[in-house]
Amino acid sequence: LFVIMISILFIIIMVTAFSHRIVKGVKHQMSLYHKIKINENNLLRAQKIAHLGSWDFNIIDNKFKWSAEVFDMFELDSNLVEPSYDAFIASAHPDDREYVNKSYLDSVKWNTSFDIEYRLLLNEKTIKHVHARCETIYGIRNEPISSSGTIHDITTRKLHEEKITHQAHFDSLTGLPNRFLSMDRLSQLLSDAQRHNDKVAVLFLDLDNFKTINDTLGHDIGDNFLIKAAERLLAVIRSGDTVGRLGGDEFIILLGGLNSISGAQPVAEGILSEFRKVFVVDGREFMLTTSIGISVYPDDSDNPSELLRNADSAMYHSKDLGRNIYSYFTESMNSAVSRKLNLEEQLHGALNRGEFSVLYQPKIDISNNRIVGAEALLRWYNPVLGNVSPAEFIPIAEQTGLIVPLGIYVLNEALKNTCHWKSMYSYKFNIAVNISPVQFRDPGLVQNIKTAISLAYIPAECLELEITEGVLMSGHSYINKAIINLNELGVTIAMDDFGTGYSSLSYLRKYPFDVIKIDRSFVSDITNDQKDRELINATIVMAHALRLKVVAEGVETKEQLKYLKELSCDYAQGYYFNKPLSAEHMCSLLKDFSQ
Ligand code: C2E
Ligand code: MG
Ligand code: MG
Repeated sequence: LFVIMISILFIIIMVTAFSHRIVKGVKHQMSLYHKIKINENNLLRAQKIAHLGSWDFNIIDNKFKWSAEVFDMFELDSNLVEPSYDAFIASAHPDDREYVNKSYLDSVKWNTSFDIEYRLLLNEKTIKHVHARCETIYGIRNEPISSSGTIHDITTRKLHEEKITHQAHFDSLTGLPNRFLSMDRLSQLLSDAQRHNDKVAVLFLDLDNFKTINDTLGHDIGDNFLIKAAERLLAVIRSGDTVGRLGGDEFIILLGGLNSISGAQPVAEGILSEFRKVFVVDGREFMLTTSIGISVYPDDSDNPSELLRNADSAMYHSKDLGRNIYSYFTESMNSAVSRKLNLEEQLHGALNRGEFSVLYQPKIDISNNRIVGAEALLRWYNPVLGNVSPAEFIPIAEQTGLIVPLGIYVLNEALKNTCHWKSMYSYKFNIAVNISPVQFRDPGLVQNIKTAISLAYIPAECLELEITEGVLMSGHSYINKAIINLNELGVTIAMDDFGTGYSSLSYLRKYPFDVIKIDRSFVSDITNDQKDRELINATIVMAHALRLKVVAEGVETKEQLKYLKELSCDYAQGYYFNKPLSAEHMCSLLKDFSQ
């Protein structure tokens, strides 16, 4: 019995120990399995995060294995698709399949690295960029046994790189090639033309008065115009030609494969007629024309930069001829451009060197022929350039910002003299000063005018500010505010050059104008053009209805004055009475009138 009991005990101990070991073993197995599973999951997750798939290809059995990420990347369902070499190649973009296949087979054949970038085309629409690598294992007889590889989705990086390359070559606003790419294309066209013995035309375009649009309507609307202008240019050219944006409102068009110089003509004419259509921006209609300059390879130069420079000179010539036309380059055009550069150079520091002066053109009351005021007109005498007309230097002063200190100079000069004249002239007298749209961008404008008036000891209503319609077109709140402040200051406000712009009646109602000045171009035709006469008549009637006074500019003859008197125009200015006079001359004239 004892032996039996001992044996049973032994068996129980053995069974317990054994089952314990089995349980332990099973537990160990399970935890190992668990660990592997976790590792596998971690690997899958890591692959997913890194957009990195892995694959194994058993070449002997022709068996392919893809990780889950490869299925995801190829947008394939692992339950429906069996991985295979053919499926791997089929996932590539049709244009890249040959390349991928050959690269892999070569790498296996020559035991070289397989390390390539190519595109996938998925569901016939999605393109992905991938970077694939693999290594092949060989047997003892050097026969390939298996390949293991990775495939990495690099689409985001590729798109980023493409974006950076695009930004370096294309203008972000219009999407057109920028200066860099345009010049590169021009060089390319020139070498093609040299080989084929044909011609290349470079068209340099600059939008007319775009600066006014930007200054007055604001940069957002300006940008809108540029986009629309780019669209129009693209609509005109042939498919192989290039339209580029050089910067600002300057564009370039490159026409290759021309037989003759005149080959550029239809394109230039096409552009001009395209720009004759109105632009609708923000629900408003605008005209925006363009001036074009053309240079031709090999006639004008065989060098890209020089061709561009020559086309630029020709463009300036078009501007000088009145804009909205095209001109072919000639040698003499370079001199016009160097004139402008000279002006810019000499204008710098001219105010400090005392090269400016102010002349005064009397304003006459038509009803009694009495002087009732004068317009201050700026003059520039430069030792190198001689006398330069305001029509030439004011636009440059505006571009360079010099107009702001120049404007203050004119104002102070004019008010100083007016103070003197008023003390000796017993009739009413006011002084008109031109204010450029650019001056309105100076936040100190109103304060400067206020200070100038108080320093000159003259009543504010003796100062008349002449502004053009361009100032008002932007509708910028700072311009409205400045005009309201100026009106509160008590100065008179005149609309200059009425009839040349949009001649908008709503501006006359909306803003506190006191005077309108009818442009010289209407007055000069008053004696022989019935239509101009009727226009002036209508303007005067309308102005009087709005309680505005009317000044006729540029009166040169007795007949013109007679008509103006008949139409009840209030005041006149012009060579018929006086050319602009120096301050001394003006002083003696007023003295004579006083007697
Ligand atoms: P605007 O304000 O319309 O000035 C009238 C222009 O017509 C002046 O030309 C004047 O000399 C000219 N003129 C006057 N009467 C006659 C005439 O009977 N016949 C002809 N053919 N011309 C006449 P100017 O002085 O050459 O000035 C041209 C433009 O330059 C001015 O046109 C004005 O827009 C601008 N300007 C002149 N001085 C200043 C200034 O101080 N500041 C600003 N911002 N602009 C100025
Ligand atoms: Mg004026
Ligand atoms: Mg005028």
